[in-house]
Amino acid sequence: MPKVTPSRQQYLDIKAQYPDAIVLFRLGDFYETFDGDAETASRELDLTLTGRGANREDRVPMAGVPYHAAETYIAKLVEKGYHVVVVEQMGTETVNGLVPREVTRIITPGTVTEPTMLDTRQNSYLLALCPEPDRKGQTWVRVGLAYVDITTGEFAATQLDTTPETEATIAVLEELARLTPREVLLPRAWADRGVTLPNNIHLTATADYYFEAATARQTLLDHFAVNSLEGFGLGAEQTLAINAAGAILQYLRDTQRSALAQIAELNAYSTAGFMVLDANTRRNLELSATIRTGKARGSLLGVLDHTVTPMGSRLLRTWINQPLLEIRQLNTRLDCVEALFDVGFIRAEVLDCLKPIADLERLANRVIGGIAGPRELLALRISIEGIPALRRSIEECAPLQPLRNQLDPCHDVVEWIGKAISSASPAVLGVPGIIQPGHSPELDHIQEATREAKEYVASLEGIERDRTGIKALKVGFNKVFGYYIEVSSANSSKVPDDYVRKQTLVNAERYITPLLKQYEEQILSAEERIIEIETKLFHDLCGSIASCAKRLISTARAAAELDVYASLAEVAAREDYTRPVLTKDDVLIIREGRHPVVEKLLQGERYVPNDTHFDTESRVHVITGPNMAGKSTAIRQVAIITLMAQIGSFVPAQEATIGIVDRIFTRIGAQDEIHAGQSTFMVEMTETAALLQCSTSRSLLILDEIGRGTSTYDGLAIARAVIEYIHNHQRLNCKTLFATHYHELTELEKILPRVRNYNVAVAEDGERIVFLHRLIPGGADRSYGVHVAQLAGMPRSLVARAHEILRDLETNG
Ligand code: ADP
Repeated sequence: MPKVTPSRQQYLDIKAQYPDAIVLFRLGDFYETFDGDAETASRELDLTLTGRGANREDRVPMAGVPYHAAETYIAKLVEKGYHVVVVEQMGTETVNGLVPREVTRIITPGTVTEPTMLDTRQNSYLLALCPEPDRKGQTWVRVGLAYVDITTGEFAATQLDTTPETEATIAVLEELARLTPREVLLPRAWADRGVTLPNNIHLTATADYYFEAATARQTLLDHFAVNSLEGFGLGAEQTLAINAAGAILQYLRDTQRSALAQIAELNAYSTAGFMVLDANTRRNLELSATIRTGKARGSLLGVLDHTVTPMGSRLLRTWINQPLLEIRQLNTRLDCVEALFDVGFIRAEVLDCLKPIADLERLANRVIGGIAGPRELLALRISIEGIPALRRSIEECAPLQPLRNQLDPCHDVVEWIGKAISSASPAVLGVPGIIQPGHSPELDHIQEATREAKEYVASLEGIERDRTGIKALKVGFNKVFGYYIEVSSANSSKVPDDYVRKQTLVNAERYITPLLKQYEEQILSAEERIIEIETKLFHDLCGSIASCAKRLISTARAAAELDVYASLAEVAAREDYTRPVLTKDDVLIIREGRHPVVEKLLQGERYVPNDTHFDTESRVHVITGPNMAGKSTAIRQVAIITLMAQIGSFVPAQEATIGIVDRIFTRIGAQDEIHAGQSTFMVEMTETAALLQCSTSRSLLILDEIGRGTSTYDGLAIARAVIEYIHNHQRLNCKTLFATHYHELTELEKILPRVRNYNVAVAEDGERIVFLHRLIPGGADRSYGVHVAQLAGMPRSLVARAHEILRDLETNG
């Protein structure tokens, strides 16, 4: 065995504990990576791969980054799905010839806390799945699911069961689509079997025992210091949820190396309380991102988001992704929106008062979690100082009083920070100047004691210039050499005898005098002591603030909620929305509804509003009309208006009565993307099958061009059979909007009592057509495909020939 150096051995020992992570090893001013990590890092971060003689025989590949730029590099690695372990030098003194080093941070995609690596307008979830397979060990019958956002303290768990309508795995996919976690933990035994997650979600295989019932339960009991989990709503029948939650906590303990004080709640929830939306529907309706860009701009969220705080924006996104079913709860939200909608100046004031409140939620969490710096305390104070004005702004709004009561001005916290932290505090601990004079007698005493020394140093330059006659003489300080008197080489002959040479520069010499040395020692030892005391006072202060965690977090959440209401009221006022009426009745009646996103994209053109009417006698609407007439927009608009009503928003319509919908299902055909390994037609049929299996009579189905991906007769046959099935099946008979270019389907209205025909009006002008975008009762009698081809700029002779063939087919076919 070649002999390795002690520091190489130190590295290898640490690396052995983290074989799957990239270890950044602090060496002086650099973080270095070695061996395989160095190869990965150099490839991913575009670093130069070097080597050095770590032992006598071979050279070890290495790649390093300067310590001050490390955050950017860490962010890039984590973004690419790597886990990063940071090993720091603990002090500068060597022990047995070696600088002690320790792991100080482990960063994984789901446990990032650095503000620079987070999207302020989006939660950052870490999620765990604890599956229970069937007897054969293949499919998942039940799954425990837990998720946490360590930057906000949100921690929730549920159990997803297989029901006659839904398999547990489908329910898992729906939750993944809702939460878009940055990292998912799975027991290693399952991960090794090749379980894959959609959308390249980062999967981390975790020790199986983390998920074992006894371990998981104990982890939770210890963390929350309780005897039972019943208080969280996690009874014995919720074992899988407990296992998932326990595994998450255990993983956080491994990575965060802190007490995790910010995780103060665990909320057991049931997906039965929310509208079900599968991943495709969220995508098709472009709820929080557009299909084309993946960004919020141009999505429903983009239109509704007028929030002014990051936490408000995050909450609005959460609401849009999780519509509710309970009318009472929705009406409470709508009352709040209405109160702010009605009185414009209050709304404006609320938005104004929210502006200085910044990201109170994440700030408070960083303080509670013990990872905040001094400037963050100052920011926290500024945010909390905004609370009284915010409270005053809603004094007159009855529906907002519960929120007002929840907003705690936390005067104590404001006062503590104000008294303790200097407004000119440095950003990080370890540099003196954090604590305000007058706060700690001990600190003041030390400062006082060194004042004489500091005054001496401050005046030294003048004194020595006078004494020596050297005008350019300078007194300075540097970390390595301490205080010095600098004289240019040209003047070195004038230097007095009591100067002792300390350092030689290119054009100057640096000296020290015995008296300066004495004062230097006094100042430096005092500074060390100051830092020590300041650090302790700072931690004590954070501890006191942490004891107010509940009040701070609930204040932050109330501010976020208020922000969402003000935002929804603002958009409602600007865009002329109305309050929907929510009902248990199985109806859906919209008068002059509009598509909130499309109407904003029409530059100059007027959006043509349309009516919708579903009741127990009118269930399936067959909508015909040529391509580009506005069918897709018209049917999506109904889904979006329903969804908006069920998050508690006003809606773009003159009037809307919404019977609560348990799920919205969209099947949008003719998508031009290529699905991996499956033909579009196969995807279309699979999705349609799922929708027929999962829907109930309270669901809303949006079917756009079913049966398009195959030959005309096949497609028509399938489309017709789907409509018949939905219409006739007892469990289904759901409100369905079926857009199709098969005008033959309009015959169904005569045969099936609850089918209604609509078409999008076009005006014919000779061989040309004009789209009116207006939905009218009755079926289209033709497809106008040739007209559309003409509009699209096909050669004139080709269009004429197509008309000819069409006439021929219509007479003879
Ligand atoms: P189809 O599904 O019938 O092919 P789309 O719904 O995609 O048609 O609509 C085509 C375009 O027509 C839209 O991009 C939009 O610009 C416009 N449009 C649709 N509906 C309306 C409307 N109600 N008022 C104004 N313009 C509309």
